[in-house]
Amino acid sequence: SDDVAALHGTLAVVADVIIAGEPVLTDLDRRVGDGDLGTNLARGASAVLAASDLLLTQPDAACYLTAVSDIVRREVGGTSGALYSLLLLTIADWLQDLPGPPGVTDWAAAVAAGVARVQLVGGAGPGDSTMVDALHPAAQALVHGDGDAVARAGEAARAARAGAESTASLTPSLGRSSYLGDRAVGIPDPGAVAIALQFEALAAALA
Ligand code: ADP
Ligand code: MG
Ligand code: MG
Repeated sequence: SDDVAALHGTLAVVADVIIAGEPVLTDLDRRVGDGDLGTNLARGASAVLAASDLLLTQPDAACYLTAVSDIVRREVGGTSGALYSLLLLTIADWLQDLPGPPGVTDWAAAVAAGVARVQLVGGAGPGDSTMVDALHPAAQALVHGDGDAVARAGEAARAARAGAESTASLTPSLGRSSYLGDRAVGIPDPGAVAIALQFEALAAALA
């Protein structure tokens, strides 16, 4: 459908930004983790691009995102693979129950539900210096924004970036970076930076 083609076009822009961001994310995860985040996310992004034919045959946004979630679960390792896959699947489940194609408020509610699920399963809340520090404010901006999709995506991108930057002054309490304790202070959480890059790409793709 036209919906799925537009969605895939948007996701392709996000995938390109992840691939371009690989060195930055690798460097950050080397400093506070095990150095695999850039490679893991880039592998997932490449796999999504390589599966374009399959993805474009999906009948609606919910089926499309379920298929992307399957690819991510298979291709992306580490904590990120599990949590991104869960995020995408929860968004898909939310959209599946709608009577028609999702509008901007549906997308906002779906993303917020996905982020809530990531928080529940991963056990991180804002302030723990994880990707939740970027995801949570971004979802809030989507839900509480009153503009159209372009305006809300712009707000979400700014909120995600501010959230990612805030992690530099936090002591991580979950994930590998927590092993470093205070030695991780000064370095932004790589997972949060990755989320900021993706929301910025999303905003740019929609604008
Ligand atoms: P690892 O190599 O440690 O398995 P990744 O490199 O795939 O993990 O991802 C690291 C990122 O995952 C971190 O920067 C952080 O943002 C995120 N993360 C780690 N633990 C959690 C958690 N419990 N909840 C949410 N995000 C988390
Ligand atoms: Mg890692
Ligand atoms: Mg790892």
